[in-house]
Parts: sequence; structure tokens; C-alpha cells
Amino acid sequence: MRGNTRSDTRPEIELRRELHALGLRFRKNYSIRLEGVVRHLDVAFPRQRVAVFVDGCFWHGCSVHGTTPGRNAQYWAAKMERTLSRDRAVNAALRQEGWTVVRIWEHVSPKTAAIEVREVLGCAEQHTR
Ligand SMILES: [Zn+2]
Repeated sequence: MRGNTRSDTRPEIELRRELHALGLRFRKNYSIRLEGVVRHLDVAFPRQRVAVFVDGCFWHGCSVHGTTPGRNAQYWAAKMERTLSRDRAVNAALRQEGWTVVRIWEHVSPKTAAIEVREVLGCAEQHTR
């Protein structure tokens, strides 16, 4: 569970490895205060203000793998809805502060994800000039 006790998930570790392979330097588990609440960014590029999250398919309701289990469906739906509304709040707060938010599904190959992040960084770089 991704709450106060954070541990690095395998997709996060693999994405970081690919980002390194592309020669990108970043901060991991970057803490930032947003609207009075401390949030943790999976991967952050503070200078370019690019935040990257690796979203688990189940918890974040991916359209391919995020199906609600039959048992206790209401319980899980409520729990997932809380995750999604937190995602939306974090996205909005970051954008408010001038950050670009990249959300990567855990089912995306780390290589593809890393290339997407590099492209976003390229755009962010041009805007800061
Ligand atoms: Zn998925």
C-alpha cells in the first residue's frame, strides 16, 4: 500500500534504471509541500519542474487491468475512488505550482516510459529558457 510507509515498487526501480541509462539525473521520492500537505513524487526533476508518478494498475484504475473485484466491490470502489481523487488533487496542486505532471502506468515498459519522460523534459527545458 502506498501511504505513509513508502517502498519503491519494481516498476519505479525499473523506470529509474532506464532514466539513468538515458543519462537523466533526477531526485527520487522527492518531498514537496502542496497546499499544506507533504507529498512524495516518485521521480522529480526539480529544475525543470517535471514530476513523474508510476501508477499501479489496480489502485489507480487502469482501464486495462483496473477491474473492480467482485467481492466487496463497493469497498474497493470507494478505496480506489479515494486514490483517484487524491491523484487529481495532487496533479492540480502541482500544475498550480508550475509543474508538469507525467503519470506512467505500471504496465508500460520502462524503456517506453523513460523515453516519454525525456520528451516531456525537452519541452519543459524550452519553456524555462
Ligand atoms: Zn494496466
